[in-house]
Amino acid sequence: MSNDPLQDIIEDAKKLVQAAAHPRKGTLSLSPETAARLENLSAVAKEVRAEAAMEPIAAAPVSVDPIERLKILAETVRQCQQCDLCEGRSQTVFAQGSPTADLVFVGEAPGEEEDRQGLPFVGPSGQLLTDIITKGMKMKREDVYICNVIKCRPPNNRDPLPEEKDACEPYLLQQLDYVQPKVICALGGHAAKTLLKTDASTGSLRGKWHFYHGIPLRVTYHPAYLLRSPSEKAKTWADIQEVMKVLSGEISPTP
Ligand code: SF4
Repeated sequence: MSNDPLQDIIEDAKKLVQAAAHPRKGTLSLSPETAARLENLSAVAKEVRAEAAMEPIAAAPVSVDPIERLKILAETVRQCQQCDLCEGRSQTVFAQGSPTADLVFVGEAPGEEEDRQGLPFVGPSGQLLTDIITKGMKMKREDVYICNVIKCRPPNNRDPLPEEKDACEPYLLQQLDYVQPKVICALGGHAAKTLLKTDASTGSLRGKWHFYHGIPLRVTYHPAYLLRSPSEKAKTWADIQEVMKVLSGEISPTP
């Protein structure tokens, strides 16, 4: 060993290269300095990853209009690697619909078909949501804004983990800030619990007004649940009628 730790590391690195080239020459002795640094590497890597995960989302310049801001945010999400869900996705599922909508539907996370198409609420449950919007509310699907709390598909459609929700929720917060809807409709327990920071059941959260960062929020059942339990459709229709009252100005819930 020399008196220069850096030089020791360089020499050890040379030995590593030589050992790799001549693996039968025996074992390799490392300086204590190098061994300690190697042991620290994984810890340092974890710290760097944690710091990266805590980095604030790059906000668009304030001079950019909300529609352009949403496009910039969508591109940020497209490249996001803030949680492990990035590894299994085909593509991110950012949102669909009008960036100036009065009504935002928020679901939980993309499923297989959403992951394939890059759009939220497609497939059978998406068709039911479309029916609720078009046949029930007499609106066009493209007039509302539809998104999920989580932008990447969890493997095998498992429930998103708390750390995945924490990592992805800032994107939703920014989406809602840019869209500025009059009302939010949370579809299903996972969306409701994430938005309202509660463990209460969907049933107990239904039937009253909540607020998400000052925006009136109504909780109703997820369309996938309604497909499994058609008898609950009447309750969802009651929830949707309350949402329509806000949209029409008939009521103005206040926090
Ligand atoms: S789920 Fe959200 S936080 Fe995680 S990688 Fe996808 S976009 Fe990023």
